[in-house]
Amino acid sequence: MPYVVTEDCINCKHMDCIEVCPVDCFYEGENMIVIHPDECIDCGVCEPECPEEAIIPDTNENAEKWLEINRDYAEKWPVITVKGEAPADASTWSGKPNKFAEHFSEKPGQGS
Ligand code: SF4
Repeated sequence: MPYVVTEDCINCKHMDCIEVCPVDCFYEGENMIVIHPDECIDCGVCEPECPEEAIIPDTNENAEKWLEINRDYAEKWPVITVKGEAPADASTWSGKPNKFAEHFSEKPGQGS
């Protein structure tokens, strides 16, 4: 019963979640972070850290699509264990709809 990251992260990517995770199961894309659902131990400590409320438990009715996306890209992107800088324009992307369809990047991030 892992937690997953939704499209609310895209282009906001504050990364406050990264440093609280006890098992380092966040993976970094160019403009989004995902959780590896097979590594997440369901502790829940990252959920309140996200200012965009982008992290949800997979029991949430909207989680199914994001569970697949998190698993898929966690296998492709590098692990991130140290919080980096949020994009300079992060606040302008807060709460925008359809970010996955219109703005998601499959490119990996730097990792750390
Ligand atoms: Fe890491 Fe816990 Fe968040 Fe899972 S719920 S990603 S283990 S901090």
